[in-house]
Amino acid sequence: MTLTVDTLCTWMNKFADKVETNRQHLSDLDTPIGDGDHGFNMDRGMKAVEEKLATKPADLTSGFKTIAMALISTVGGASGPLYGTAFLEMAKKSASTDDLNELLEAALAGIEMRGGAKPGDKTMVDVWDKLVPEVKAGNLTEDKIKAAVLATKDMVAHKGRASYLGERSKGHIDPGAESSGYLFEAMLETEGL
Ligand code: ADP
Ligand code: MG
Ligand code: MG
Repeated sequence: MTLTVDTLCTWMNKFADKVETNRQHLSDLDTPIGDGDHGFNMDRGMKAVEEKLATKPADLTSGFKTIAMALISTVGGASGPLYGTAFLEMAKKSASTDDLNELLEAALAGIEMRGGAKPGDKTMVDVWDKLVPEVKAGNLTEDKIKAAVLATKDMVAHKGRASYLGERSKGHIDPGAESSGYLFEAMLETEGL
């Protein structure tokens, strides 16, 4: 699947809408196993992204860079640099391809490199790791997204604030996994992707 400047902007605006709608829910997920700010962090970031993308980027690379910079400078916390890295890696990759699968693979590799989390550590990586191959296979569905997010519930956190709780992190969905789920849902809902 080919990504264009238009589909990138539509995808990001849909993601921003979902984050805004679920801002409180994302922060509520972050309350028992974190510091209760994930929804507010992401909403601040995605509002900045929306504002920047109101001026249509000249090409995919500048679009990704603009998104990355907006996230890095406004989200804060652990998730800001991680989402920022995902979009920076897509910016780099977009110099040689506009294939969505290759771009997503670069984003996932960037998140893993930046945060050092592996599948099973109860982070956003769990969602990306399960869903990037589904996108590639053309098999991404709403159910698979929900299942990937829900799978973090029974995991013990090994990275980020939730890891301070050890075993007590079990029984709670990871907030960054939920927000990443919205990113994939927004993709699924973008016509042409
Ligand atoms: P903070 O924990 O600094 O308040 P947020 O609440 O915005 O930041 O984001 C928390 C989310 O970031 C977690 O739910 C998790 O998905 C993700 N996260 C934290 N550390 C890592 C890491 N090392 N690798 C991948 N994801 C991480
Ligand atoms: Mg937090
Ligand atoms: Mg915080």
